[in-house]
Amino acid sequence: MSLEEEAVEKYLRAGRIAGKVLREAVRIVRPGMKVIDLCEHVERRIVELGGVPAFPCNVSIDDVAAHYTSPIGDTLRVPEGAVVKVDVGVHIDGYLADTAATVDLSGEHTDLVNAALEALEAAIEVVRPGIRAYEVGRVIERVVKSYGLKPVKNLSGHSMDRYNLHAGTSIPNYASRLSLDKLKPGRAYAIEPFVTDGRGLVAEGREAYIFSVYKPKRAKGLLGRRIVSRVYGERRGLPFAERWLNWLKVGVDEIRAVLRRLVDVGALISYPVLVEAAGGLVAQYEHTVLILDKEVIVTTQEG
Ligand code: MN
Ligand code: MN
Repeated sequence: MSLEEEAVEKYLRAGRIAGKVLREAVRIVRPGMKVIDLCEHVERRIVELGGVPAFPCNVSIDDVAAHYTSPIGDTLRVPEGAVVKVDVGVHIDGYLADTAATVDLSGEHTDLVNAALEALEAAIEVVRPGIRAYEVGRVIERVVKSYGLKPVKNLSGHSMDRYNLHAGTSIPNYASRLSLDKLKPGRAYAIEPFVTDGRGLVAEGREAYIFSVYKPKRAKGLLGRRIVSRVYGERRGLPFAERWLNWLKVGVDEIRAVLRRLVDVGALISYPVLVEAAGGLVAQYEHTVLILDKEVIVTTQEG
C-alpha cells in the first residue's frame, strides 16, 4: 500500500509543527514556572501554526513518566533541578505527529537523558520497511543498558493511523519476543525510549487528567451526554484534557464527578498519571517516523 500524496503532506505538516513547538517548549522550561502555563503555551502554539493538539500537552516531572497534564486550576510549578519531559502531539485532519524531549534542569542527569536520546537515534537508524518491532526494541535496550540504566518495559512506541494514536503495533523499549509485528510502508510510528534509574516499570497513579471517548452511546446524564457528544464531534477518539471542558461553565468538582461516571459506564477511557514503580527518575525522547516504500522520514525532526 502506498500513501496518498495528500496524506503524506499532512503527516509532514503535523510533524513540522510538533517539532517546532516542542523545541520552543524545551527552551522556555524554567524552575518555578507554572506547569499549566507550559501546557497552555504548547497547545496555543500548535493552533497558531495551523495544527490541532493530538492530545493534551504532557509535562511529566522526575519519577512521573507520562500522562501528566495540568488539571483545572493546577498550581504545580516546575521544581528546582527537575527532570522534565515535554510530550507534544499534533494532527492535521487526523494525521498524527507525536514527539517528546527531556529537560535536565540540574545538569546532573546527563547519562539518563543521553541514554534516552542515543537510544532513539539508534532506533531510528535501524528502522526500515519490514523490520520487526522487537528488533527496534533490542537496539533501544542495548543502548540504555550500556549506560547502566533500564528501559521502562511497560511503555512503548506505537503505530498510528488516522485519528488513532495507538493503532495496534507496539514498539517495545526492549527485545520483547512478543513483538513480532513488522513495520510497514504507508504507516507512521512513534518511537519513544523511556529510561530510568529505578525499576524499569511504571504504575498507574490515582489521578487522571486525560481522557478519550470510547463508546459515545454509553454516555449517561444530561451533562455527560453534552460532554461526550461535543468531544466526540471535535476529536473522535483522540485524547482530551479535563482542562479543556471549561466551556461547560460548571464547577470543577462537578466536572470531575461526571468524568468519573463516564469512565465507570465505559463511555470514556481515562489515562492515569504513570509513575516509576521504584520512584526512579525517568527520561524520554520521542520522534514520529513515516515509513514509505523507498524511504523513512522522521516527520518531527525539523520545522
Ligand atoms: Mn508522545
Ligand atoms: Mn507516543
